[in-house]
Amino acid sequence: MKTNVTEIFGSLVFDDRCMKAKLPKDIYKKYKATIIEGKTLDPECANTIATAMKDWAIENGATHYTHWFQPMTGITAEKHDAFISPSGDGSIIMEFSGKELIKGEPDASSFPNGGLRATFEARGYTGWDPTSYAFIKEGILCIPSVFMSYTGEALDKKTPLLKSQEVLNVQALRILKLFGKTDVKRVNTTVGPEQEYFLIEKSLWDKRKDLIYTGRTLYGARPPKTQELDDHYFGVLKPKVAKFMRELNDELWKLGILAKTQHNEVAPAQHELAPIFTITNIATDHNQLTMEIMKKVALRNNLVCLLHEKPFAGINGSGKHNNWSLATDTGENLLEPGDTPSENAQFLLVLAALVKAVDDYQDLLRISVASAGNDHRLGANEAPPAIISIFTGSELEEIINAIIEDRPCEKACENKMVIGVDALPPFPKDTTDRNRTSPFAFTGNKFEFRMLGSQLSISCPNIMINTIVADTLAMFADRLEKAEDFTSELHDLIKETFTDHQRIIFNGNGYDEAWVTEAEKRGLYNFRTTPEALPHYMDEKNVTLFTKHNIYSKHEMQSRIDILLEEYSKAINIEAETMVNMSKKNIIPSTLAYIKDLSESIATKKSISADMEYGVEDALIKKLSRLASDLYRKTEALAEDIIKAGGIDDLIENATYYCQSVLVKMVDLRAIADEIEQNCSKEYWPFPSYGDLLYSV
Ligand code: ADP
Ligand code: MG
Repeated sequence: MKTNVTEIFGSLVFDDRCMKAKLPKDIYKKYKATIIEGKTLDPECANTIATAMKDWAIENGATHYTHWFQPMTGITAEKHDAFISPSGDGSIIMEFSGKELIKGEPDASSFPNGGLRATFEARGYTGWDPTSYAFIKEGILCIPSVFMSYTGEALDKKTPLLKSQEVLNVQALRILKLFGKTDVKRVNTTVGPEQEYFLIEKSLWDKRKDLIYTGRTLYGARPPKTQELDDHYFGVLKPKVAKFMRELNDELWKLGILAKTQHNEVAPAQHELAPIFTITNIATDHNQLTMEIMKKVALRNNLVCLLHEKPFAGINGSGKHNNWSLATDTGENLLEPGDTPSENAQFLLVLAALVKAVDDYQDLLRISVASAGNDHRLGANEAPPAIISIFTGSELEEIINAIIEDRPCEKACENKMVIGVDALPPFPKDTTDRNRTSPFAFTGNKFEFRMLGSQLSISCPNIMINTIVADTLAMFADRLEKAEDFTSELHDLIKETFTDHQRIIFNGNGYDEAWVTEAEKRGLYNFRTTPEALPHYMDEKNVTLFTKHNIYSKHEMQSRIDILLEEYSKAINIEAETMVNMSKKNIIPSTLAYIKDLSESIATKKSISADMEYGVEDALIKKLSRLASDLYRKTEALAEDIIKAGGIDDLIENATYYCQSVLVKMVDLRAIADEIEQNCSKEYWPFPSYGDLLYSV
């Protein structure tokens, strides 16, 4: 048994050092060329890699392989095949060919496809993504893969992500060339996603149908104490939580996942894990694995890991901060301000690109995080508002303003700022990250997109960021490549861009009501709900953007938005059905049983003596009877509304109805149930309370 972290790390990954050791030199070289230059693998090379991969997997206890992919469900999918092959004499040999490595053909009819494929042509295929290493999970060799329809349309979240990375690479290289950096061969986007989650006792989870069916509590009165004392954040880990984190780290490290930071979060029972950043598609694979393994390790410890964005009302929900930057293969971070005028000019240009891209495509960023669950968080004073803006920090804002106003920068010098000539005044990096209310914050050498919900695949937000930044860099490159005087054109371009898009920069308090009014004055979007946001995906400018860069066809876009709309309506439908079920099967019967016992108590007292005091029972019976009637009426109203929603075919209308009618009735019903819970004996209440759940571990 290996116990040392450096030995454990990556021990279940067929990574670079593994390939270097196991592959013939020329094959290894060809493999590297595939990754760096995007060349296709020849069959001989694929066969050799497949055999080496299989031998390594078997040595490490694997019996099966699978193309591991990320369909539109937002989670991962796998179908296992054993390596066995009959050898003719009754025995078997363990086989795995290059063809099997490169391509799989799962029946794809039961994955969401938004009308891209009819069932009769249900063949889909999976293709190896050689940029993400194969790994072993529970005895299965997992080959990270893309997933497509037979006609080549993307059915997954990985294909467009890889395409967006490629587009950004091409455009960023054009920009770097203008700055004389011809030695750079590749620009990658890097991501470090911070993951929040809750841990609760499995035995209590078992008793909550809402958690089982929907991942969040649909009922639950506020307990006497929640997060008001700020005593959980960074608090000492409870032994069970510490054990969970230790085991989780072990599993993640074996898979080469750079799990680094762990701590208690703001809400009781809430925690966070942050990895060290890596290339975006690998970070995406790793985050999917992290979420899966969190759930498994929790179960092993009789705990349940909740990844829902808002498992409990009245306390913080869980998000995922997507830290994003650009890195060259020569080790340069393009969002790192430099020391020389030229480095700073390059930094300011990339910054300007981000500012323009985020302003022009606020809608896409909002859409990329839109879901039924996340609607409960955004704008709820615990997560950024639904309005997109950029936080730069005051030092950087002063530099931007000085550029816009053609004046000296306060801290720098007497001369006005001329880009490409002047060095930037130094600005302390650690003061740039104090504003936690901003959805898109510059944090010294990266941007932190903070609107993601905790269970979201980070794929979509990064497809959006990569593509909108690539598009902007392309425009910049077009203009600068034609410039007669590069430095002055660069200066004008940056000044113009900051001037035109200044409205997106906001360094104030994003939780403040005044910001909503101010943002409206600035003409910024504020899509409060998913059904408001999603239809904008098909706005002409967005279709033009994605088709121009060949990320999606219009058809693929339509199918994706249809899937998201349906997913939204289905999520709320399941929640509403669960509420009706819990009300009728548990809450109403329990309340009536309590009322009956209280009534019997009065009868008993009366039989003992005519002047016995029974005021308490009487008051409770009256109160609970009134609430129970109300509860019954509201349950029926919700049940009827579910049927009504089911009759609306148009996807947008349907989602809007769920949002504006069904959700409202759910809130009404819950308010009554929570009041009953507060007045009901613990013995009769049919579910573990918020107090039980939040302080269980
Ligand atoms: P916090 O936001 O809580 O202050 P940190 O500043 O420690 O947290 O970093 C958060 C995340 O940002 C980590 O996952 C880290 O790896 C990631 N990160 C740091 N630098 C980069 C970068 N250049 N690109 C992408 N992510 C990065
Ligand atoms: Mg953060």
